[in-house]
Amino acid sequence: HVKRNGRNGWAVYGDAMLDSSWQGAHLLQDLTQALERNQFELWYQPKYHVQENRIYGFEALLRWRHPKKGILLPSVFLPTLQNTGLILPVGNWAIDQACKQLRQWSKEGHDDWTLSINISANQFEQQNIYELLCNTLSRYHLSPLRLTIELTETTAMRGLDRSLQIFHDFNRIGLTVSIDNFGTGYSNMLLLQNLPARELKIDRSFMKDIRDDSKNVKIVSSIIHIAHSMNMNVVAEGIETEEQQRLLTQLGCDALQGSLFSEPVPPQDIDAALSRMPFNIHSTSTAAPPIS
Ligand code: C2E
Ligand code: MG
Ligand code: MG
Repeated sequence: HVKRNGRNGWAVYGDAMLDSSWQGAHLLQDLTQALERNQFELWYQPKYHVQENRIYGFEALLRWRHPKKGILLPSVFLPTLQNTGLILPVGNWAIDQACKQLRQWSKEGHDDWTLSINISANQFEQQNIYELLCNTLSRYHLSPLRLTIELTETTAMRGLDRSLQIFHDFNRIGLTVSIDNFGTGYSNMLLLQNLPARELKIDRSFMKDIRDDSKNVKIVSSIIHIAHSMNMNVVAEGIETEEQQRLLTQLGCDALQGSLFSEPVPPQDIDAALSRMPFNIHSTSTAAPPIS
């Protein structure tokens, strides 16, 4: 049972709203059964292409539909998944589910939409992620060009030699590797130079007090310049206001993401979310290919 309210009609709970007594053993107990009981869902948040003024793809975000507590956010349960190794089966379910959704979009005529999947460190390190993704893509007859995997810089930098090899493998087949939440880890630009990632996502904490004259503008501006000089596409996350949209566009961001465009929504609500967009944004393109 989920309460209907809020912007996209769902009450969504983060950790601050849960009573603390549930969070230890009970959480783990419920979590171990969640996969077999089909309680996980992927919700989708649009990515907006600045130059083409269109939604070109989505990021898949994990949700847990708890029978008593409603829709739970990753902040509630992701740390437990990661600490117990449960992230492997759940994360692999998410990869499969995301590719299934891409296939479904194709059938509905959205052959040009791309999809980004978040990958945790254990998923990246404890299995052959390249082989897993190749197998899943071919099972759903999908081109690797339509898929992006998002890794944090910490995940990417740990075991750098192995990461490099994997990044090269993905680049060879045209699957995009993206560095997520950039600016929250070491943010070592020199190390970044060695990582052949095609996309950089600037963490949403930089968007908070961003104004024409703020320190964050200078930081974000230099991140964008350096990323562009390395041939990376830059995505700004956490865009909530038109002022932020204007600034990040002016600074040269290639793509924007945030509640201004849409919060993450369940797949059946995507059409409604697209039609609620604040300005004249297109959701399909016949001419231009997705960001490359
Ligand atoms: P992330 O990949 O950095 O995702 C962005 C987070 O920011 C999402 O939180 C999204 O709902 C939120 N967000 C988007 N736009 C706005 C905005 O305008 N304002 C604000 N305040 N927040 C915004 P969410 O969905 O709670 O996910 C949290 C994290 O959980 C993700 O961060 C990602 O690292 C992880 N995660 C989510 N889904 C998966 C998954 O399927 N697998 C793995 N391994 N990790 C996942
Ligand atoms: Mg992400
Ligand atoms: Mg992020």
